[in-house]
Amino acid sequence: MDRWWYIDFEGYHFNHRFWVKEIALLDNYALNCYNYFVQNPYLIPNLPRNETTLVQYQRHRLKWRFGNHGWLGVIAQIKKTVTCDKVFMKGLEKYLFLQKWIPNLIELHDLPSFKHLNNCLHQTCYLRHRWCAKRKVHELQYAQATKEENEDKVSVIFLNL
Ligand SMILES: [Zn+2]
Repeated sequence: MDRWWYIDFEGYHFNHRFWVKEIALLDNYALNCYNYFVQNPYLIPNLPRNETTLVQYQRHRLKWRFGNHGWLGVIAQIKKTVTCDKVFMKGLEKYLFLQKWIPNLIELHDLPSFKHLNNCLHQTCYLRHRWCAKRKVHELQYAQATKEENEDKVSVIFLNL
């Protein structure tokens, strides 16, 4: 049986890079889900306070000093989990950042934006925030699975014409 993964993260973006606070990984069967909260880097104890970082906080509600895993440990764990499987994600900027860390990463182009993916609102992590990486990997898995189902239905209809 084929296996692949969906990945997404939430965090801050400043100094021309992402600082991940929450990252989630889900397999294509929606059976295995891994959700990590990432510590702020030791060398940046305080979040730069400006309008951009405030807007970012208001979106995901993840405090800078929140988290219980180091970034490198999380990446090692994710690599161990996905091995050589394909890993799908959405968003070019995030993709460009994450591809340096995760092999076989593929950007999904043909799904609606996350604003319009609202089928898995019950799948948030215990923080129950709307912009939750865990919810978003479920949204990706659900959207992709239903898309495949619809494509199958369409081909069955055409076969019967
Ligand atoms: Zn969350």
